[in-house]
Amino acid sequence: MIGWDNLITGSKANLDGLRGHPGFIFREQDITAAVTVEGRLDLVMNLASPASPKDYLEHPIETLEVGSIGSRNLLNLALEKGARYLLASTSESYGDPLVHPQVETYWGNVNPVGPRSCYDESKRFAEAITMAYHRTHGLRTNIARIFNTYGPRMQMDDGRVVPAFLGQALRGEPITVFGDGRQTRSFCYVSDLVDGLIRLSRSEERYPVNLGNPHEMTILHFAEAIQEIIGTRMPIRFHPLPEDDPKLRRPGIGKAQRILGWEPKVAFEDGMRITIQYFRGMLDAVPARG
Ligand code: UDP
Repeated sequence: MIGWDNLITGSKANLDGLRGHPGFIFREQDITAAVTVEGRLDLVMNLASPASPKDYLEHPIETLEVGSIGSRNLLNLALEKGARYLLASTSESYGDPLVHPQVETYWGNVNPVGPRSCYDESKRFAEAITMAYHRTHGLRTNIARIFNTYGPRMQMDDGRVVPAFLGQALRGEPITVFGDGRQTRSFCYVSDLVDGLIRLSRSEERYPVNLGNPHEMTILHFAEAIQEIIGTRMPIRFHPLPEDDPKLRRPGIGKAQRILGWEPKVAFEDGMRITIQYFRGMLDAVPARG
């Protein structure tokens, strides 16, 4: 197995458990540059992209390039090697959705020139070029639309709501809720997501499949729930809602249930407890970025 990452938002420390593993090679490389591999390849999984709004707003051009040039490079690699190809796309393909819950047949409500467009349109292009390679070259492709996923090894300061609130609650700081906190998200634990991705990569489904946990809650409720689990009660500080922040998000997972026999297994409290434990351990060790 080969892992490529230019570490624009990731961390090499996340691979510590694989160091010295005879079946794993890591290459610190940007997939927007030419990607070559010696020997056989069975499957190319394209998970490359900044995914946190804070990160992609800081790197809009890199985000557009990795979804377009990077996707094309990995599709060409899969084609050359006769390998299967899986694209990690996103619930952001639905933009600020007008259909709830979001189902794969919904085409979305994306602002093509707003601040989030660098991510949304990059992923929508990545979906389009994946379908084009399938239709033109018969490449065996899959497209996962991943909804909010969390777990150990997220960057504490990546700005997303899970690390933000857990870090604040653990440090005894006020919780920063954007807007009135009535916007919703549905959080999926990482092991469930990985199981879904592996099942999808083995399936014959070429059109997008949602992978996420349909357990939906408001951001305000999420702030209260994690304080309850941690056993703190910090004040809530309300900040302006970022532009184009989706108001409702919950995956319709009927398709994944039907064709992959997949649904999330890890309960919110259980996944959060494991993640809290991880962040507690990291708190003193990791200096804040930027
Ligand atoms: N959010 C928040 N406070 C934070 C970070 C995020 O209230 O410190 C909100 C954000 O406005 C959004 C939701 O939490 O409505 C999820 O944000 P995140 O950045 O995790 O990812 P998104 O789901 O928007 O891609």
